[in-house]
Amino acid sequence: MSNKLPKQPKVGQRKCIFCGGLPLTKEHIIPDWIKAVIPFDNQTKNNLSVHTSISTSNEVYLIENDYKVKNGHRLSKKLLIVCRDCNGGWMSMLQKATKSILSSLILDEDITLQTDDILKLTKWIVMTTMVAEYDDIKAKKIPISDLREFRENHQTPARWKIWIGRYNGSRLGFHHNGFRVRNGCVPYSINNIDNLQTSTFFLSGLIIFVMSTNSIGVYREYNNIGTIKLARIYPMLKNSDSITDKPIPWQSLKVVDDTDVEHLIANIF
Ligand SMILES: [Zn+2]
Repeated sequence: MSNKLPKQPKVGQRKCIFCGGLPLTKEHIIPDWIKAVIPFDNQTKNNLSVHTSISTSNEVYLIENDYKVKNGHRLSKKLLIVCRDCNGGWMSMLQKATKSILSSLILDEDITLQTDDILKLTKWIVMTTMVAEYDDIKAKKIPISDLREFRENHQTPARWKIWIGRYNGSRLGFHHNGFRVRNGCVPYSINNIDNLQTSTFFLSGLIIFVMSTNSIGVYREYNNIGTIKLARIYPMLKNSDSITDKPIPWQSLKVVDDTDVEHLIANIF
């Protein structure tokens, strides 16, 4: 019998973002198989983040502003943030469950998304958003408790909204914004800041837009951006013409171009 104790993390050592476990393995932000579906130039610079602060009363309080562009393409980026068990276990299962749906959307095929497809896709988007935020660590806003809960139950955390749409613009990769939010009535203090993040994924024919926040005010306001061309898939709404829990015939959606994207991610408030 071995007297060896289980391996303990050293102080300050990074652990799995989802479960706190070790050892860590490298995880692609965007799964490697997508590169076989989407051809891209590896030299593309594609990493813009904005770290800023706003109020919920639509007045903008710019406290920090940090734009950065990194070399290398984010589609090929790997991060050392998840453990072997998560990577090869539940994360791998979510990847496999969505591969054929994602491929069809990326290639803009004439398919109809059924409710079950939408549920699988939603889980994949939540997982991928949580991983991708670690590429923009300074503007990271999703609380670690959301990651831990998602690993346990695969349920989308409270106050997330997710839209998908057809895309024919020039972007490829993803774009992350992290905001600090305060209610306009409350004096600024480090203790009354809420968080908001938006993540936009550009995967050839597919655009995904995600927002999450712990600010109830922002969550309620954040409704209008997706109603014209994007289909909101989380939370699903019943009894609506444009947003539905009914199947989505993919090619019935209008196509989003780069001008629409500018409105989407540059003029959020
Ligand atoms: Zn883990």
